[in-house]
Amino acid sequence: MTMRRPPARDAYDQLEASMLLCPKCRVAQPVRKRLLLVLPQGDKYEYVCTRCGSVCGDKVEPLPPRRLA
Ligand SMILES: [Zn+2]
Repeated sequence: MTMRRPPARDAYDQLEASMLLCPKCRVAQPVRKRLLLVLPQGDKYEYVCTRCGSVCGDKVEPLPPRRLA
């Protein structure tokens, strides 16, 4: 008896987005991550469609915790 568990949704969301639905192409396209803004709470990136150059989404990445030397 084999039990195959679907990948956890939470874990999946942690992955770097590489394909996003492009509003212009109307299909999922490979995207390029581009640093847009540096905010106090983290860096804001936007995801640009590699095919048409449209912005497919954006994301704020929280700053990594500072390590003590
Ligand atoms: Zn596109």
